[in-house]
Amino acid sequence: MAVGEPLIELRNVNKYFGALHVLQDIDLTVGRGEVVVVIGPSGSGKSTLCRTINRLETIQSGSIVVDGRPLPEEGRDLARLRAEVGMVFQSFNLFAHRTVLDNLMLAQVKVRKRGKAEAQRRARELLDRVGLADQADKYPAQLSGGQQQRVAIARALAMDPKVMLFDEPTSALDPEMINEVLEVMRQLARDGMTMAVVTHEMGFARYAANRVIFMDDDRIVEDRSPEEFFKAPESARARDFLSKIL
Ligand code: ADP
Ligand code: MG
Repeated sequence: MAVGEPLIELRNVNKYFGALHVLQDIDLTVGRGEVVVVIGPSGSGKSTLCRTINRLETIQSGSIVVDGRPLPEEGRDLARLRAEVGMVFQSFNLFAHRTVLDNLMLAQVKVRKRGKAEAQRRARELLDRVGLADQADKYPAQLSGGQQQRVAIARALAMDPKVMLFDEPTSALDPEMINEVLEVMRQLARDGMTMAVVTHEMGFARYAANRVIFMDDDRIVEDRSPEEFFKAPESARARDFLSKIL
């Protein structure tokens, strides 16, 4: 797939939690239309990396630019950023006391200032796209985990994000539900969405990613094509990691 100009640029990013250095000198560029998979052991900083891009965490030094604009500190611009950078978590995070349809409409009306009719049209279109057109009036607890995660993806897409971040989107799912979520993600990738995906699903990394980032100990240790990475990881750490999960 042809990959466009940089959409996310991290330069020399450093992040601490107190004395704990959790992101060290991170340089990362994600081009428009690119799918970057981030893998690495638990505690290596993958979630923190995602959260800094969405400005859920502050950084202590370096710069993060999304679509040509430095990350805003606060206020209106932050709400806009959050709309433009969609995020999907391991734990779905749906509004439990709202129907599926409402889950998809709320932020469209509040943040994107869409009228109800337009928001509802868009919500139904996206539910159809993730295969849940018939679940609009249910509550999250009435759905399976895989269905809930597909609702979460549709809800993020309803904001028309420029990029989608996924933080272990299938890790909380029963095995038989993983594929339905990965299929929605693969389709998004084919449609040209820019994506950064933290996952342990090596099949997705191998076949849907343009690049694989391997993180260990708060750093990016490798940043290569999936073909190269899976054929022969350069670092002993990546070889060790792969030998444990494959
Ligand atoms: P990963 O997603 O790769 O498992 P994380 O980004 O969650 O790693 O965590 C990286 C490091 O930062 C870990 O040592 C973790 O314990 C620490 N950490 C994460 N969030 C916080 C926090 N809010 N406060 C303090 N330490 C944190
Ligand atoms: Mg994590």
